Amino acid sequence: MKQIIIIGGGAAGFFCASNLDEKKYSITILEQNSDVLQKVKISGGGRCNVTHACFDPRELVQFYPRGNKELLSVFTKFQPGDTMDWFDQRHVPLKIENDNRVFPESNSSQTIINTFLTEIQNKKVEVKTKCSVKEIEKQGEKYLVKTSLGDFQADYVVYTTGSSPKSLKIIENLGHKIVDLVPSLFTFNIKDELLQDIPGTSFENAEISIPALKTEESGPLLITHWGLSGPAVLKISAWEAISLAKAKYHFEIEVNFISKSMDEAEESFLNFKQSNPKKTIGQAKIFEVTNRFWQKVLDVSKVDLNKQVSNISAKEMQQILENLCRKKLKVTGKSTFKDEFVTAGGVDLKEINFKNMTSKILPNFHIAGEVLNIDAVTGGFNFQACWSEGWLISQHLNHLEI
Ligand SMILES: Cc1cc2nc3c(=O)[nH]c(=O)nc-3n(C[C@H](O)[C@H](O)[C@H](O)COP(=O)(O)OP(=O)(O)OC[C@H]3O[C@@H](n4cnc5c(N)ncnc54)[C@H](O)[C@@H]3O)c2cc1C
Repeated sequence: MKQIIIIGGGAAGFFCASNLDEKKYSITILEQNSDVLQKVKISGGGRCNVTHACFDPRELVQFYPRGNKELLSVFTKFQPGDTMDWFDQRHVPLKIENDNRVFPESNSSQTIINTFLTEIQNKKVEVKTKCSVKEIEKQGEKYLVKTSLGDFQADYVVYTTGSSPKSLKIIENLGHKIVDLVPSLFTFNIKDELLQDIPGTSFENAEISIPALKTEESGPLLITHWGLSGPAVLKISAWEAISLAKAKYHFEIEVNFISKSMDEAEESFLNFKQSNPKKTIGQAKIFEVTNRFWQKVLDVSKVDLNKQVSNISAKEMQQILENLCRKKLKVTGKSTFKDEFVTAGGVDLKEINFKNMTSKILPNFHIAGEVLNIDAVTGGFNFQACWSEGWLISQHLNHLEI
């Protein structure tokens, strides 16, 4: 029987193993840690955000700053609906939350882990833990996988090691080009009077732009103890991961907290002034922002909270609107989002055949998961890429004529 060696017992490796034809192959997973699926375990705050309820591949690829072109064909073959069916067939109920993230109904990542463990047990897949791969030697069309537990012969290698630099070096030594690793998905460190002392203040839909990069994102925004977070920040951090790393995380952003143009905001202000001239500005409810934030804006704009709206000068109004609609802030560093570090960079996608996730350089060698230069914003997309790629590999191997 031909031998498949899967290197890396994570999401991509296990999903591939769970779909391989055990009657055709002898399958072994090599994992350096003492436990497999450790990232699945801690994922989604222990709940495992398995996928995202977005069933149109064209829409889905928009969530992947790197890999969006390449994944289109992958998702036409296996997409979130297929992931949900796959778990359903194994009697794992999933639920779609309001923001379209999909979780196991149990709210426990252990449910997902148990499903994989049962699957590979049924298939008699061998799992070797504490087995660290040190080097891979190409021997004609086969491979000698050298590990801390000795050597393994492989007819087919499935390389799913995640993004550890050590494992990228191994594959680089085999001839693959590696795109430099940089963090993706991070929040912004900002010290500014406007954000001080109001952590927890949130905005339903704000706009953030980075003028130097001519880029803009919108979405919910959150003021934190250290600066700004929330989906709008995370999205822009992922899309601009490489440029922001080059800027050493020092750059200027412009924030529109209320998603209104200066003209629209001015109109709202003047309408309010006309109908409520006697109201004090501190109590005026002109825009959809919290009282705490409104008072902070007035404070920073040097406007007396007790002044009547009718007495607010044009200059003062301008200052208030500037702080609300186009506030310039200096970012001076980044922080990790809930420990969910995701890396951009990895194996260059030009060297992968996305019909079946085979290497264009190495025969009988498949690559999937975070080891590739593919990453997504939060929401279950990173796992979905692993499931889809792992599934493609399994189908390719299952249908090979050997
Ligand atoms: C805290 C956190 C929470 C997350 N939550 C979510 C979420 O809810 N939803 C989502 O979609 N994404 C989430 N992600 C991202 C997601 O976990 C990853 O995208 C995904 O795990 C990548 O899977 P993988 O199989 O490519 O790599 P991994 O899961 O990292 O697995 C690779 C495995 O290979 C092993 N390995 C590496 N090198 C070697 C070697 N030389 N020899 C032997 N074994 C080796 C590693 O030990 C590891 O077990 C989260 C990430 C983090 C850090």
